[in-house]
Amino acid sequence: MINKSMEKAASIIGRSNYVSCLSGAGISVPSGIPAFRGEGGLWDCYDPMEYAHIYTFQKDPEKIWLFMKELYNLVSIAEPNNAHIAISTLEQKDKVKSVITQNIDNLHQKAGSKNVIEFHGNLYRLVCLRCKNLYQFDNQAIKGCLPKCGACSSVLKPDIVFFGEAIPRPVHIKAKEVVAQTEVLLVVGTSCTVVPASSIPFEVKRNKGKVIEINVTPTIISDHVADITLLGPAEDILPELLDKVLMLH
Ligand code: ZN
Repeated sequence: MINKSMEKAASIIGRSNYVSCLSGAGISVPSGIPAFRGEGGLWDCYDPMEYAHIYTFQKDPEKIWLFMKELYNLVSIAEPNNAHIAISTLEQKDKVKSVITQNIDNLHQKAGSKNVIEFHGNLYRLVCLRCKNLYQFDNQAIKGCLPKCGACSSVLKPDIVFFGEAIPRPVHIKAKEVVAQTEVLLVVGTSCTVVPASSIPFEVKRNKGKVIEINVTPTIISDHVADITLLGPAEDILPELLDKVLMLH
């Protein structure tokens, strides 16, 4: 069954001129980064609705920074897995044109993907909310108690979208442009429940595009939105799908 679906997915991708990918936390779990809703790891100790909420940052930045340093330590040692690498290879072969990721872990970029829209920002950047200066989040930045802006001394915030914050407008516009051109959307490792990224598969569908879903378990898009659902670990399925797409050429 999955083989037949895989063949079909490969043929849809092979025929398309504009394939995009929407990725979520599930793709990075095999790299050692636990998903918010997943079991175990960091989120057992830190409730994301508290520690990734802008209100908490404004009220108690020190508390958030203690957590951010732990998150950084986890993310900075993570390596891309075969799912990230397969997507990057599809981009090199000019199949995947763009990756819209909800992840902040930089793993698509580490795998070599060039055209990545960071829907929820990037943990490796820091931003000053007052003067908008950007800084690099590295070991130097996490040494001090609270990283501060060199220009205005405000406490820096990781340049990621916290709960309670909107997606930055330029990012949203860029994503909309990609979605409008997308003929085939690969949905990888996301349950499509966090707005507004969750609306992307629906938009592609409305534009008469095809949606291919790769997730470990069925999601809200499996029944009515996805044309094909390949259930299983993305790090196994994507390399196989890649091979099948390459065999078509
Ligand atoms: Zn500043």
